[in-house]
Amino acid sequence: MRFDVLTIFPELLNSPLDEGIIRRAIQNEQIEVGMTNIRDFATDKHSMTDDRPFGGGEGMVMKPEPLLAATKSVNPQGSGHVVFLSPQGRQFTQQVAASLSQCEHLILICGRYEGVDQRFLDHYVDEEISIGDFILTGGELGAMIIIDAVTRLIPGVVGCSDSISKDTFSRGGLKYPQYTRPRTFEGEDVPEVLLSGDHAAIEEWRFIQAMQRTKARRPDLFAQLEFSAQEEKLLVKHMLVAGRVHRR
Ligand code: SAM
Repeated sequence: MRFDVLTIFPELLNSPLDEGIIRRAIQNEQIEVGMTNIRDFATDKHSMTDDRPFGGGEGMVMKPEPLLAATKSVNPQGSGHVVFLSPQGRQFTQQVAASLSQCEHLILICGRYEGVDQRFLDHYVDEEISIGDFILTGGELGAMIIIDAVTRLIPGVVGCSDSISKDTFSRGGLKYPQYTRPRTFEGEDVPEVLLSGDHAAIEEWRFIQAMQRTKARRPDLFAQLEFSAQEEKLLVKHMLVAGRVHRR
């Protein structure tokens, strides 16, 4: 899969791309990441990529011509999926990451200043994506978040595919708590069941822990979960639900 990031700060993401799983995915040619400096496509002698807003007001707006030329340079056939990072876009979630991981080519356009000329967004962007209800100084960190979350869903990038299917959000809920050595830390022991070697009991404990967490921390997610008949029985036994819930 190829990612192209369009930015006026192309060096900003050098370090996060050069560490850990993402670095390995690049080395293994599972992903390619291109950085394009929008400024290289400015047409005036001062390489300006922004200008004052029509109608007056605060700040500067990114000009459409350099953005269009930069987009065309990385997506000449128009076959890539063009995303503009924007606090006004649809919320980025694990489900959105999963659908983007099906794309062969993702073009991530990073805004700066007050935003981008609407005519470019209307005609050359496939969708706007927000990484949350807060305002960043630019789209670059959002682009990196998308690259990171999407890359780990590409088959073979994360060693154990089981770890992805058991991740928080994969099934719609939160993951169970985890423990490692030492068995006792500051007087607190690891839950006994995890040392029992009884895999069925461990699975059941993890399921209940995950559901208790999801219900307490994210009741919105808990309300949408669907369960098998066996899971439903466990939830009733542990008083997480009163009676019948959605069946899978
Ligand atoms: N004035 C804009 C508004 O009120 O919607 C915010 C502009 S922000 C300072 C500059 C750029 O950062 C945006 O154009 C966008 O590319 C990026 N950005 C800021 N917050 C973001 C978010 N939550 N998700 C994705 N991109 C964001």
